[in-house]
Amino acid sequence: MTLDQMIEKLAAYDGEEIKIMEVCGTHTSSIFKNGIRSLLSPKIKLISGPGCPVCVTPTVYIDKLIDIAMHKEHCVLTFGDMMKVKGSRMSLTSAVSQGAHVQVLYSPLDAIKIAKEHKDVQYVFAAVGFETTTPVYGVLLDEIESKKIENLKLLTSLKIMIPAISYVCEKEDKIDAFLAPGHVSVIIGSDVYKDLAKKYKKPFVVAGFEGEHLLAAIYEIVRQKEQGQYEVKNMYKNAVSDKGNQAALSVIEKYFELEDDFWRGIGVIKKSGLHLKDAYQKYDAGSDFDEYREKMPNGCRCADVILGRITPPKCPLFSKICTPMDAVGPCMVSTEGVCGIWYKNRGKA
Ligand code: SF4
Repeated sequence: MTLDQMIEKLAAYDGEEIKIMEVCGTHTSSIFKNGIRSLLSPKIKLISGPGCPVCVTPTVYIDKLIDIAMHKEHCVLTFGDMMKVKGSRMSLTSAVSQGAHVQVLYSPLDAIKIAKEHKDVQYVFAAVGFETTTPVYGVLLDEIESKKIENLKLLTSLKIMIPAISYVCEKEDKIDAFLAPGHVSVIIGSDVYKDLAKKYKKPFVVAGFEGEHLLAAIYEIVRQKEQGQYEVKNMYKNAVSDKGNQAALSVIEKYFELEDDFWRGIGVIKKSGLHLKDAYQKYDAGSDFDEYREKMPNGCRCADVILGRITPPKCPLFSKICTPMDAVGPCMVSTEGVCGIWYKNRGKA
């Protein structure tokens, strides 16, 4: 089937409404960039999901980072995405204006050089992410161990995707099928979706990021729905294998173990967080929290957005008082956040 034929069929689709969740923020961006919605029948809906790690990082985690950064001999190292996300009191950006020590890095491995050059400073890396970034933190830990770096620890908020997708399947019965997250699937492989597809009777299609990849994946979902199938189909085989990246999975397994974890806006999801194993607790800067005083900013509907219950423009604050320059909720801050992506592409949905 040619691309033109697929587009023709997707535009003409007139069966039962199909709601497809794209879990990954990069897929959401690509859907806008390629004008995918405009090519689909109104009966095929694309819904954005929980694939933004910064968006689901609890406020207490940000509060703790700020407490650490305020200590005069400490410095927090982080990626830029975390700077504007608000904790219960303020964001890291605001904390810097009040004297907090924060340095933005592009690669976690830069932390090694910095820690070696300033041995009098205790550095704490804000290790936030899904399976895509966790192996990099594992490599960082390898370096810390082998180079005997004593002034660098991690504050972790690391999560895995399958329990979150499972949560969506349990709670949001209106989602009919999933575009599986592309980058995460590179690490975890495509076989891991088989149990979900079977249990919830929903197709899972792993897609690449180009427009034609997404269209082919959506076409495959529509085909399966029309034929009453619910299978895992890997359509991104040049990057995603059945079993995933074994080297990356091994480094995760070496340092981290699964525990229940808290997702901002969602709550606790069983066995969804990666925490440092006991043997490596000396590298932990206090990542276990006794209590999550969860609170979304007043009026913010990030939780409904990441669970696919509403699209961002349905939030009353969207683009009125919540914008990337002055974000109210975390979904507007991160480059992978659904609200931020919709804001940048407003008028194109
Ligand atoms: Fe939250 Fe802003 Fe998104 Fe509304 S538009 S859900 S306030 S991030």
